[in-house]
Amino acid sequence: MTTEHPPPAPPAWESPEIVRLLAEPVTGRREVPAARQVFVNRTLRMDKIEAVGFDMDYTLAIYQLRQMEALAFRMTAELMVNRFGYPAGLRDVPYDPDFVIRGVVVDKLHGNLFKMDRHNHVGRGVHGRRPIPHAALHKLYREEKIHLGSPRFAWLDTLFALPEGCLFAETIELLERTGDEVDYARLYDQIRESIDTVHRDGSLKRLVLADLPRYLVRDPELGPALHKLRSGGKRLFLLTNSFADYTDAVMRHVLDGVLPEYASWRSYFDAIVTGAGKPGFFGERRPLLLLRPDGTPAGEAASLDRGKLYQGGDLTRLEELLGIGGDRVLYVGDHIYGDILRSRKSSLWRTALVVEELERELDWLDGHREELGELARVEGIRTQLEDAVASHRTALNQAERRRERRGNGDASGLEERVQRIRQELDQLRGALRAAGERIEALARAIETGVNPTWGFIFKEGNENSRFGEQVEDYACLYTSRASNFGYYSPVERFRSPRAAMPHERATVVLSIWGEEHGQAAAAARPSKAPT
Ligand code: IMP
Ligand code: MG
Repeated sequence: MTTEHPPPAPPAWESPEIVRLLAEPVTGRREVPAARQVFVNRTLRMDKIEAVGFDMDYTLAIYQLRQMEALAFRMTAELMVNRFGYPAGLRDVPYDPDFVIRGVVVDKLHGNLFKMDRHNHVGRGVHGRRPIPHAALHKLYREEKIHLGSPRFAWLDTLFALPEGCLFAETIELLERTGDEVDYARLYDQIRESIDTVHRDGSLKRLVLADLPRYLVRDPELGPALHKLRSGGKRLFLLTNSFADYTDAVMRHVLDGVLPEYASWRSYFDAIVTGAGKPGFFGERRPLLLLRPDGTPAGEAASLDRGKLYQGGDLTRLEELLGIGGDRVLYVGDHIYGDILRSRKSSLWRTALVVEELERELDWLDGHREELGELARVEGIRTQLEDAVASHRTALNQAERRRERRGNGDASGLEERVQRIRQELDQLRGALRAAGERIEALARAIETGVNPTWGFIFKEGNENSRFGEQVEDYACLYTSRASNFGYYSPVERFRSPRAAMPHERATVVLSIWGEEHGQAAAAARPSKAPT
């Protein structure tokens, strides 16, 4: 007699009710376009976050495409002429917004700009406006290890720093074209001093404040995004290095009058800290000052009140007065060092980096799917061709050795076999060369389409760029705009894709995770040798 076992119950996630619920999400959540998605390096549960802090410049306040940098560039060039006696022609050099991107490094010794991959290998560079040939780059930067901490280098890691890189290259171009010798380190220090002056003496901000719509974007999705977070029970705070008068004017332009529930931009926030002095804010102890309505300090703050402005302070005091700290705080900023890296090193705050360039790069990629698809396809074929060439070479060696052993007069068809494998090998090699050329041409066209000098901000060759690597290492999340949080629930579980090491990707079990892994495994499979 056989005992009949009841069939095992289907897993809960396959029940008809669950399938129906998944097909009709109750919130009617919008499809998030790629350029507006929040990308996840480390899993973050928004239900565990009690306070969300925001940086202002380039985070809540988005500047009109490169207008701010162009203004800083022109004002700095003006100072270089007036204060340091550089040629008046510098005033007429236009600001080229594509010529320097975030993550580029200044070499003050040789007067170059370069971009590195995550292994600190320099992939491309310019001297003045001229690309440095590969051999020269190799000689300059591959024979010693590059230490970015050295005063010889400056890493341009914020959008505020792009004009100084640009002016450095343009000045070298201008001076060397007329045969002048340039002391590169001195030039860079003078540019740094000039741009610092333009920021600190208020001259740049005066011009921005005089024409806010020209310099600042009013993102209509920002107010609703902040409101959604507040409605989800989060406390919001602003933590900016800008001082109170500038912060007030900029934020009024960005948020006032956006939602009727909020009488002023200040009502969105439970605490507003200006003149924060990041990154020092995260590691040093400084008094937190309450500001009077006229912006003058009214002594040390004993509490953080809504609607009031504060200045300075430090991480410990802010957490104390907020009554929330550690990993229950999410901080959103645009500066990989000042906002993200330093806060992660000194605190348990979770972090989100705003990289506005993502929007443009993702849109560009979206519009060039065909080329990208072809690139992936030809790369897969190249791997197969390489395997086939290797196995044909082995087979040819074996056949030739066997033929030699048998000597002349052998009638077993070995000679024809050798000829056939040779012919196939030639064909395979030809196809491999053609595939290599096609890949190079496609990759070049894709990269120069994004940026003719530097390619993608997050990539260098086939590797992550140094900037991309830093984003991956230090930012829990990254996205193109602060308002992108509005596309998600305040209790969203931002889940990082499961990381797979190369050896894991090659195994059959893990290749079923996804198509990408499946393709990698298929590509890694050796092709059959001729029999
Ligand atoms: P945050 O991004 O809101 O923290 O503030 C950035 C502030 O730093 C703005 O007020 C900028 O004007 C200022 N800033 C940016 N670059 C420089 C510089 O090189 N020297 C002095 N201030 C700067
Ligand atoms: Mg900022």
